[in-house]
Amino acid sequence: MEFNKEQKIIGIRVLSDNIIWLWKKNNSAVVVDPAVSQPVIEYLKANNLNLVAILQTHHHSDHIGGTKKLEKEWPNVKIVASAKEKSRIPFQNLSVKDGDKLQLLDKEVQVIEVIGHTKSHIAFYFKDKFPVLFIGDTLFSAGCGRVFEGTYKQMYNSLKKIKDLPKNTLIYCAHEYTRANLLWALNLEPKNKSIKKKLIEVEKKIALKELTIPFLLEEEMKINLFLRADNLNGFSFLRANKDTWV
Ligand SMILES: [Zn+2]
Repeated sequence: MEFNKEQKIIGIRVLSDNIIWLWKKNNSAVVVDPAVSQPVIEYLKANNLNLVAILQTHHHSDHIGGTKKLEKEWPNVKIVASAKEKSRIPFQNLSVKDGDKLQLLDKEVQVIEVIGHTKSHIAFYFKDKFPVLFIGDTLFSAGCGRVFEGTYKQMYNSLKKIKDLPKNTLIYCAHEYTRANLLWALNLEPKNKSIKKKLIEVEKKIALKELTIPFLLEEEMKINLFLRADNLNGFSFLRANKDTWV
């Protein structure tokens, strides 16, 4: 599977397990779900980067907490968020809906609504030979987001939308939950060789203080039980089981 490892997307670890993604091209940068502002401001200034857009996948405070301070530093920044969240993301200045297309960093970006975690969660799909998806809290490596505001059916359908993307899509989620998710999956499928192999890889990365994200859709299809569920009942069992897992 061919994918581009050289994309200049940087992950900044903040809070307990959040990752802020920062994509730079020439002297411009786009930031996804800035939980906090300070490390982002420091990075952008140290690298003489102009912040052109902040992409918000949903309204949770560990995704929007740094946005206002970033806007203060870069007043022309586009703050892209779901038009359905004008009250919970009030500082948005570019309101979008499912299917909308934007132009960012010379690439076409498509907005994909993926509800379930919240009632209006969106993802940003950068169409390219090597496509990139910023998925927020809808999908994690070996896991998926908790269903807070939507229904299991909505979440199941959102995951289906992700499965329909090209298999070489590189996926960036907002939390480093990979190891815990793999341990849960292995508990359900103790003989699954792909999950065992992935756990070894992930533990190596963690020991080196590296991020375990992004992940490739094709690889994820082998180890993510939620993506592998091919009917709503199967998905619902998994989601309910995971909710009780400690
Ligand atoms: Zn969330």
